[in-house]
Order: sequence, then structure tokens, then C-alpha cells
Amino acid sequence: MSGDLQIESHQGPYRVSFGAITEAGLLGDGQAVNRHLIDANVARLHGDVLAPILDRPTTVLLEATEERKSLEQIVPVIEELIAGSCRRDDVLVAIGGGIVQDITCFIASTLLRGLRWRFIPTTLLAQADSCIGSKSSINLRSTKNILGTFNPPEEVLIDSRFLDTLEPEDVRSGIGEIIKVHVIDGPETFHRLAEDFSLLENDRAELERYVADSLRIKKRFIEADEFDRGLRNVMNYGHSFGHAIESATGFGIPHGISVTIGMDMANHIAGARGLLDLGYRDAVHEVCRKNYEDSLGVPIPLAALLEALSRDKKNVGTSVNLILPSGAGAGMEKVAVELDEEFRRQCQEFLEGLLR
Ligand code: NAD
Repeated sequence: MSGDLQIESHQGPYRVSFGAITEAGLLGDGQAVNRHLIDANVARLHGDVLAPILDRPTTVLLEATEERKSLEQIVPVIEELIAGSCRRDDVLVAIGGGIVQDITCFIASTLLRGLRWRFIPTTLLAQADSCIGSKSSINLRSTKNILGTFNPPEEVLIDSRFLDTLEPEDVRSGIGEIIKVHVIDGPETFHRLAEDFSLLENDRAELERYVADSLRIKKRFIEADEFDRGLRNVMNYGHSFGHAIESATGFGIPHGISVTIGMDMANHIAGARGLLDLGYRDAVHEVCRKNYEDSLGVPIPLAALLEALSRDKKNVGTSVNLILPSGAGAGMEKVAVELDEEFRRQCQEFLEGLLR
């Protein structure tokens, strides 16, 4: 289909295709055994589309929760695959959002020293963002995404019909990652998104266009720096705060909405330190706030947030490495910020501002 993308990776190119999933898309090329790891909610809500694979003995249903996306709780999934005689030339097929993707990709990286895998993303976040980029991330007890690998899928099939059944909160979570890449791409791209913003929740064609645009922006960064050693770091904009918010709220706020609050918080810190033009900060704030407003009922305790930030895997010494927009072009820069009293006060100001 036109608009399909090809992503270059260290394991060669892979294709991202848009359109209705066919039986062949579900079953693969028939050369290898495809083992489907399906989000249990998606299996329940999309039984019609998934009918050809639901009752197969090789199909595994997964509960998509952060607790299940942990080293401890993926063991039974691995045991089920082994009990089903999974072999090295089998292909794992993830059907779900970022959680099923992370579990499948992680298992594919390690089981039998590596299996191939394909991905059919069913959330907006996974379609617009996580489906490309090779990363898997697994929690270790309450420490989010501390274990992981780089392992690209063999192909990604994006069918927007899955989005019909998402909860509004999960739609806004995906929109959070769409906002993120558009801010990273620069003010011109952000202002275009800001103008269309009200269409995203109600106009499917417009949303699909933004999904494809988001992947095109992300493609540039992941192809230049797949292993996240330099240029790709800017994709972590909003994520240090976002992960800390998820942790401080016991995952009470979905990932992409936590990232939306995290971008706004990063901009607040950048503005307070004279790095970011305040007019632009306020323009981004207006869009972010619309996206996270309905999630503000969940309290974000400052002490727990700072504690989680102090454990961020990107920290060096007593500073936290934040991606902050900076300068006239609001370009993203990695800035080491001391976890001191001034930082604590700026975080507190921001959190108090959320409740006004
Ligand atoms: P998710 O996988 O957490 O799912 C959210 C909820 O939506 C679950 O209840 C799930 O059952 C349900 N769901 C999934 N598809 C549905 C559908 N079509 N209709 C109705 N309900 C559906 O959602 P997510 O936001 O895609 O993923 C978040 C996770 O992704 C986090 O753990 C985050 O850390 C991870 N992530 C990974 C990467 C990466 O590159 N590997 C990038 C970003 C985020």
C-alpha cells in the first residue's frame, strides 16, 4: 500500500505496512511455525479479525499489565512456549500494544538464543511509536524498563481497525507520543500538529496521517542511531519525568500520558532555567495539557517522583540527564541537571501548577 515504510536496522531492512490484516498476514508465509502472543483484551474484542489463529495450540494469551511485563512474570510465558515445543526457526507474532511487544521482543531476543518475530500493533501508542526502533524493555519488580535488548521485528502490520475499541485514555496515551515526535521535529512541525490537534480524537483519516508522519520522523533518528548512543537520545524527551511519574503513581497514569506530563515538566524546567522561550513553552503546554487533563485525578507525590528520578538509568553521579528543548529553534539537548534544592523547587512548582 502507498505510504508503507521500510526501516533499516542492524539485522537488515524491515517493512511497516498499513491496511486491513489478511489471513496471510496473520499466519505468515507458511514456511515457519508462527506462534501468536496475543493481548487477551484484543483476543476478546477482535475475535472476528483474529478467528484464524485464536484456537490454535500455538497461540498464547497475555494479560497486558506492567506487573506481567516483568522478568519474574514472563517466566510462565517462556515455559508455555517450551512446553509447546517451540523451536529456533519458529516465528513469534506479537498482537497487542507496547506491553505485548516488549514481552515478545524480549523473549525473541533470548529464548533459544534468538527467534524471529513479527508485530501487529493494536494500540495507538504502538502503531505511532513503539512498533519501530528495535527496543524491548522489561521491568524488574517495580523498576520500570531496566532490562532490555535491541531486536527489530521482521515486519510490522498496522491495521487501524484495532483502534476502534481503545479506551479514551489509551487513545490519549498514543497521542502523547505523537505530540512528542512532532515537538522534537521542531516548532514548525509542532505548530502544524497544534492546529490539527482537535481532529485527532474524532477524524480517523487525520489520525492515520499523523501515525504515518510520526513513524517517518522517528525513522530518521533510529536509522541514524539504532542503539541509542547519541542522536536517538532526543527520543527520550519527556521520558525521565514520564517514567518517574509512572513509578510515583504505581502506573496509575498510562505511559504516553505520563510522557505528555513529562514533556510539559521538562519544558517548565527549561523555561525556568532560561533555556526555552516562554511563549513556545506555553504553546506546547496548551496542547500537552489538553492531552493529560483528564488524568489529573491521580495524585503525583513529589517525594516519590524525585526518588524515582534519582534511580533513572540515564543518571550520572548526582545529576539527572534530561532532554530539554533549548535555544531559538527549541532543539533538543541533553542537559545534566543537579538533583538539588533548586530542581526540587521547580518540580514542586510544576506539580502545584497542575492542580490549578
Ligand atoms: P499496553 O500494551 O500497555 O495496553 C494498554 C491497554 O490497552 C491494555 O489494557 C490492553 O489490553 C489494551 N488494549 C490493547 N490493544 C487494544 C485494543 N485494540 N482495544 C482495546 N484495548 C486494547 O499499551 P501501550 O500504550 O501500547 O504500551 C505501553 C507499554 O509500552 C509500556 O510498558 C511502555 O513502557 C512500552 N513502550 C515500549 C516501547 C518500545 O520501544 N519497546 C516504546 C514505548 C512504550
